[in-house]
Amino acid sequence: MLDQDRVRADTPGCAGQVFLDSAGSSLPPTVVVEEVVAHLRREAEIGGYRAAAERADDLADVKVALAQLLGARADDLALVESATRAWSDFFYAVPLTAGDRILISEVEYASNAIAALQRARTTGATVEVVPSTPTGEIDVEALHRMLDERVRVVSLVHAPTNGGLLNPVREVVELAHGVGALVLLDACQSVGQVRVDVHDLGVDALSATGRKWLRGPRGTGFLYLRPELAQTMEPAALDLHGAQWAERSGYRLAPDASRFEFWECSVAGRLGLGAAARYLLRLGIDEVEAAVSARAEFARTELAALPHVTIRDLGGHRSGIVSFTVAGVDPGEAREALADNKITVTVSGRGSTYVDMTRRGLDGVLRASPHYFNTFDDLERLVAAVAGLAGT
Ligand SMILES: *Cc1c(COP(=O)(O)O)cnc(C)c1O
Repeated sequence: MLDQDRVRADTPGCAGQVFLDSAGSSLPPTVVVEEVVAHLRREAEIGGYRAAAERADDLADVKVALAQLLGARADDLALVESATRAWSDFFYAVPLTAGDRILISEVEYASNAIAALQRARTTGATVEVVPSTPTGEIDVEALHRMLDERVRVVSLVHAPTNGGLLNPVREVVELAHGVGALVLLDACQSVGQVRVDVHDLGVDALSATGRKWLRGPRGTGFLYLRPELAQTMEPAALDLHGAQWAERSGYRLAPDASRFEFWECSVAGRLGLGAAARYLLRLGIDEVEAAVSARAEFARTELAALPHVTIRDLGGHRSGIVSFTVAGVDPGEAREALADNKITVTVSGRGSTYVDMTRRGLDGVLRASPHYFNTFDDLERLVAAVAGLAGT
């Protein structure tokens, strides 16, 4: 069991408000904020290069902590600025030619889908959407029928941005590997709230962010690559960190996933990401997962009991995202009314997951994403406030 008083004391931001947007940009714990701010101060004292050199060991440790969280090796991780950057760094490095096929999930995040559509346009490949089952998960049998040796890459969203679904990963990987396709897992909404082990899942690559469930700083993200790919894949863009210019007309790629990184970065942000990963490792991901799940289930059950509320979460196995609509109330207006009551939720609009939202006839859903630092009283306040909105 997590020590709720302790984690709340570590999170000054959660006092005096109900913060339910860890799926958007969470409240970082004090250790993360202190790490970032202290490093910025140090840069102001001695300059960015010397300040980074002083923290060289801690900077190397950032990947060690993230690797521990993912069951990966530090060498198979690249630190980048966002989940989308991580996803596209991998995706744009997958060789594609005319007639190749790209499969995406029905709940695909818009930025991934846009990149896939762009690459299809420039290479002559096609983008196809794998349908979902009636309960919302990726339809593994339909995927099986769609797969052939022209499929180069399957993008799977582990937990979509617009609801509590968790997609099965292992089965998708086994089928895709059967035809030699790569599986790129968008784990942006799962890392930090559920156990994600790259070995168990067997994915070729995984993208995630720092600022959501991991509670790290903004502007941080990371890419995991299967070791063989980390050592052999050629990134679409390189610099003098990802490669070495050691002869007049040639270069040598870095021997590991750091070939997917650029030299320049927010050192303070990276240190903050490391602090966030260490903080989570100390709490224990299984304890976090249990706490998030209990809170999300409580919120779902209580909201579902309100006559004007419809829960919009799909799937049998749920994440910590609670999505819902209130009959007769525009989601954006509901969000503002809740904000007036010091309750932070967001709206996930159709443009973020266009295919899924269009299929379900939804323009937007309210999204409440409780983390382990939220109390059940926070959730009761949400429910009471939503009850006050209903039918107005
Ligand atoms: C937020 C989100 C992203 C994008 O993450 P960024 O860090 O903003 O690039 C990608 N996929 C899903 C499912 C998300 O929810």
